[in-house]
Amino acid sequence: MSDSQFAAGVAYMRGQYQPIAEASIPLTDWGFLRSDATYDVVTVWSGSFFRLDAHLERFMRSCARWRLDPGLNPEQITEVLSQCVRLSGLRASYVEMGCTRGQPPWGSRDPRLAVNQFFAFAVPFVWLATERQREEGLHVMVSSVQRIPPSSVDPTAKNYHWNDLTMGLLGALDAGADSVLLVDRHGNVVEGPGFNVFCVSGGAIVTPDQGMLEGISRRTVIEMARSLGLAVQLRALPADELRCAQEVFLSSSGGGVLPVTRVDQSAIGGGSPGPVTRQLVQTYWEWHGDPAYSRPINYAGVADPAA
Ligand SMILES: *Cc1c(COP(=O)(O)O)cnc(C)c1O
Repeated sequence: MSDSQFAAGVAYMRGQYQPIAEASIPLTDWGFLRSDATYDVVTVWSGSFFRLDAHLERFMRSCARWRLDPGLNPEQITEVLSQCVRLSGLRASYVEMGCTRGQPPWGSRDPRLAVNQFFAFAVPFVWLATERQREEGLHVMVSSVQRIPPSSVDPTAKNYHWNDLTMGLLGALDAGADSVLLVDRHGNVVEGPGFNVFCVSGGAIVTPDQGMLEGISRRTVIEMARSLGLAVQLRALPADELRCAQEVFLSSSGGGVLPVTRVDQSAIGGGSPGPVTRQLVQTYWEWHGDPAYSRPINYAGVADPAA
């Protein structure tokens, strides 16, 4: 196994570390056949995990919610994730952990009999927005596609029920926008494909409180806002309020705080990222240096697995 094969990313499956290009799951795993799986994504910046504890805690909660057993505790998962990053040598990485249902014995449809499978991988960091979009702001569309209701699939546990998000995204891309926001049945925006949404409206920072995943980046934004003395409101956010907001931004592990300067046909904040958004972007990256949130990876002593 050469280092160059590992530089593109490293996966851990069924107890083995392997190059990302060689990692695969069995066709008959319900994780593939039924989207029956959960996952979480934590980032590595400058060789350190950002808020790993929060991601592990959410991952364990998501597993419990879907009755999936990863078979590893948070300390063991930390070791696996660290080893994936260490073997890859990546200093900026997108690190995913997950658990699939696996498959019940042939002839059975009883999910309780399936042997769940933990997996993890570290790949080069994946941004949710291009450099230009991060500077100038994204154009998002509010889709007519309704997010799958919480009474059907609990949105607070990470899952792969993404057809609504993907169809909404395709519609938005076809219409020339950069990304999409979905609404609930009352027409309130809830979230987009892998991110939460915020706006500055009437002097406060507003973000939905229901119908969406509680992003760790969302939590970071709320904590940053409070530490900066900015008012925060967690409540329903009608699409019309978003279109008329002074500022709009997204939050995701795929890049932190991401400015939005156009919602449908409405320019936001005169078409460039506003002061609150800019301050939060800056604070987000500053907080990466805080030891309370940052856990360094020890890259020393990586044995060549082929040796
Ligand atoms: C992961 C995810 C987010 C963002 O969560 P972060 O922890 O901030 O990365 C938002 N919405 C959905 C549907 C997600 O899957």
